Amino acid sequence: MRKPIVAGNWKMNTSLEEARALAGELRSTLSAYSTVERVLIPPFPWIVPLADILDGSDIVLGAQDCAVEDQGAFTGEVSARMLAPLCRYIIVGHSERRHIIGETDEVVAAKLRAVLRNGARPILCVGELLEERERGEARAVVERQLQSAFADVEAADVLRTVIAYEPVWAIGTGRAATPEDAREMANWIREVLARHVGAEAANEIRVQYGGSVNADNAAGFLSLPEIDGALVGGASLKADQFTQIVERAA
Ligand code: PEP
Repeated sequence: MRKPIVAGNWKMNTSLEEARALAGELRSTLSAYSTVERVLIPPFPWIVPLADILDGSDIVLGAQDCAVEDQGAFTGEVSARMLAPLCRYIIVGHSERRHIIGETDEVVAAKLRAVLRNGARPILCVGELLEERERGEARAVVERQLQSAFADVEAADVLRTVIAYEPVWAIGTGRAATPEDAREMANWIREVLARHVGAEAANEIRVQYGGSVNADNAAGFLSLPEIDGALVGGASLKADQFTQIVERAA
């Protein structure tokens, strides 16, 4: 059985006071949904204050990114080694990092390995650009991203990774993919991973959908047996929306 996982990626949003208030509200509204793994992914500086607010609850924290290296002269970087004691999950390969910051598949793979060697769990984002989908290349792009990320990763570590299928054209645009698009890609992701870990193990890997998920469209994705939760951006900043999305996954 794959436990659904709904994660809220706050991106570079919230003041400290807003972050505290949102986490406090979510601590109470999300407590009823223990059949779903609930993850809050705030900006780096809010991780420590939020760890205090969530202490004693079963809501866990994640980080939005990490460095390739564990420590050293890398001004401004934050390592998986530093994050792992506080964050169960660390996102790698988010499309905003791939396409705005310019992270390559090789950098994403190195970050994935950094997360795993430090004992946290990666949420690996994969997904195609609109022009790639229009050229019929969506599956090939996702296959390349998966193969590159897991090239040097043991099967047991592949199983500790959550895959977030996030078509780039659906992120922050209000234009979600269809549940059928998400289902097809989730099946393809497990097919590609089966070559690496075998079909039975690939069936244990959780695949989320992400891209303009909100309280109104969440049920369409979360009711599909192939989709094990959502990675939520904009709607995760509103306690009522995020709570309703979690409820749809329960
Ligand atoms: C995301 O940031 O991963 C995301 C899916 O954003 P949004 O829900 O705003 O499209």
